[in-house]
Amino acid sequence: MEQKRKDRTCASQDSNSVSCASGCATAAGDGGNTSPALPDNVIRHKIMVMSGKGGVGKSTVAANLAIALALEGRSVGLLDVDIHGPSIPKMLHLEEAVVQSSDGHIQPARVGGVKVMSIGLLLRDRDEAVIWRGPLKMGAIKQFLEEVEWGQLDYLIVDSPPGTGDEPLSVCQLAAPLTGAVIVTTPQDVATADVRRSINFCRQLDLPVLGVVENMSGFVCPHCGTLTDIFKSGGGERMATDMGVPFLGRIPIDPAVGQACDDGKPFVYHYNATETAKAFARLAEPILALAQASAPEPEQTTTQAGKNSTMKIAIPVADGKLCMHFGHCEQFALIEADAQSRKVTSKQMLTPPPHEPGVLPKWLHEQGANVIIAGGMGQRAQALFAENGIKVVVGAAADAPEEIVSQYLAGTLVSGTNVCDH
Ligand code: ADP
Repeated sequence: MEQKRKDRTCASQDSNSVSCASGCATAAGDGGNTSPALPDNVIRHKIMVMSGKGGVGKSTVAANLAIALALEGRSVGLLDVDIHGPSIPKMLHLEEAVVQSSDGHIQPARVGGVKVMSIGLLLRDRDEAVIWRGPLKMGAIKQFLEEVEWGQLDYLIVDSPPGTGDEPLSVCQLAAPLTGAVIVTTPQDVATADVRRSINFCRQLDLPVLGVVENMSGFVCPHCGTLTDIFKSGGGERMATDMGVPFLGRIPIDPAVGQACDDGKPFVYHYNATETAKAFARLAEPILALAQASAPEPEQTTTQAGKNSTMKIAIPVADGKLCMHFGHCEQFALIEADAQSRKVTSKQMLTPPPHEPGVLPKWLHEQGANVIIAGGMGQRAQALFAENGIKVVVGAAADAPEEIVSQYLAGTLVSGTNVCDH
């Protein structure tokens, strides 16, 4: 279960490399390119673990869920994208782990059969504060998805930082389509707007909520094993019912969980006979059941938006070609296509309202658009489109809109650099 430190290797010598963040905080990253980074056939289920705020046990749930799935014989990866506070390396006793790379491929660490990657494995000084802008974070996440040798996985569990910021948004864009999200809360946190915000974030991004976990729900006495409800519990289940999402279960406060985290021992592996470990195992049951479900239809694997039967693809146009500055384009081509047959059914040219921040995402939403293909777009604008249920594809060339759409529908659209990152 342990890996010893050799020489800390920079995972890649590429100047865009995330690994250079430890010694080269000016690394550029490829922050703007939101093209899905993972080939769909490699990883069957990508699941993001989220929470409204920190300290509720999100990383604990992510790590133990990953190990519980591996104990059931599944091939599992665990990706920690909490760039500012990666806790997975400590939790899994990987502080001394060595990350090896060659030819742009990064070897993940391994714990109990789970392949693990975290920014914490790449920092020279684990106490270092990482100050990264949104695009750089996105570049780091892209690199984790593209360059880490995950191989064939049944599940990739992504531990996202608390809240609904750059990192979960980047994961949704770069690893699309995700199977869904697990949202972790505590009895105290459940009534706050934070959890509802996480659920609404998923809805806006068309990301299924696989369920809510109420962690730290009751206390298990370390002497007699009796469970006592020290705070009012059960709120997680009620909230899940109210919001129309599944409830996955309760995990009690168990001092052995905290101790296992401090010792870097995966709890469900080392304490698998305990009631708390069984509670973690129960969380994994619906996730295991996903593997029995049939594989997605090919046409559903391209985009989250592609699951709709009709796609409306918006392209900013000037002089008959894609306009690199979507905010200042003359017109938008709105091309409708059937998601099943992947055939274009209609095309309209629309004149957008005058440019003002936030206007275009809302206007295109009102026109029924569910995808926008652009040359470049800043993070804020991308977030606004996501909030309006519109998938963003950036880095397209200045070609005719019909040509771009037919390439997009055929899955052959080559997206280059996001050329407009402001
Ligand atoms: P988050 O990822 O939400 O910030 P962590 O998973 O890092 O939270 O957990 C915060 C702290 O709470 C850690 O010290 C962890 O060991 C402890 N913890 C989490 N869940 C439990 C639990 N069910 N029982 C006891 N301690 C827990």
